[in-house]
Amino acid sequence: MSLAQGRLYILSAPSGAGKTSLVAALLDQLPHLEVSISHTTRAPRPGEEDGKNYHFVEREAFQQLVEQGAFFESAEVFGNYYGTSQQAVEERLAAGVDVILEIDWQGAQQVRKKMPEALSIFILPPSQQALRERLQARGQDTAEVIEGRMQQAISEMSHYPEYDYLVINDDFTQALAELKAIFVTQRLTLQSQEQCQAALLEDLLK
Ligand code: GDP
Ligand code: ADP
Ligand code: 5GP
Repeated sequence: MSLAQGRLYILSAPSGAGKTSLVAALLDQLPHLEVSISHTTRAPRPGEEDGKNYHFVEREAFQQLVEQGAFFESAEVFGNYYGTSQQAVEERLAAGVDVILEIDWQGAQQVRKKMPEALSIFILPPSQQALRERLQARGQDTAEVIEGRMQQAISEMSHYPEYDYLVINDDFTQALAELKAIFVTQRLTLQSQEQCQAALLEDLLK
């Protein structure tokens, strides 16, 4: 990976833990940061737009993309297929933009193998009860889907030790500040600063 590249972040959480809300707020606060738009075979929720939340595709189209090697990672989650476009991620990283992948633990394992320098963050809810209430409050999934996602939540959460950072999303403002701290800290490392502040560093040592 060249020095001019952006950094890749993996963000995972059980459904309903708040990762989409936290990422949306984070993107408002940090420049040079984008979220990768996944392909999915899941049906759009009310209000979700193709190309904005996801690229919504039929199963056959998804399978063709798999066969073409178009995905950086892909996985089956809750009976639907999800995948990250390799080309889109590479383009943005090459442009110096930091990219967040909102992906499940299976995808996270694939990405770590391909790009060990990717930093991974796991978002946890403050309790199982709060998770259930948030899935219900979001009001976009049927009772059956919510029950399925609750069942999967514990198995998803059991993968937290594979991640570099853990953030508990109890108070939203605090969780957002903690998440932001992770990203800001990475931009202050010697390697990042030598890249971004090259002119100043040269000037100071003249
Ligand atoms: P939400 O997390 O409740 O908003 O539900 P979604 O239907 O948006 O996402 C379902 C699951 O698919 C989550 O565990 C996501 O992390 C995962 N997911 C979403 N996009 C991708 C992707 O591109 N690749 C992989 N591997 N998982 C994804
Ligand atoms: P995910 O993307 O992880 O499935 P969402 O961002 O869609 O989660 O959040 C699920 C629901 O919980 C949404 O209705 C959101 O507004 C709500 N929510 C997120 N964070 C908090 C929080 N800290 N306290 C209370 N509700 C929250
Ligand atoms: P939802 O269907 O509620 O939007 O997402 C459900 C789960 O799918 C979430 O946990 C989300 O992280 C995961 N997910 C979304 N996109 C991808 C993706 O591209 N790859 C993988 N591996 N998981 C994804």
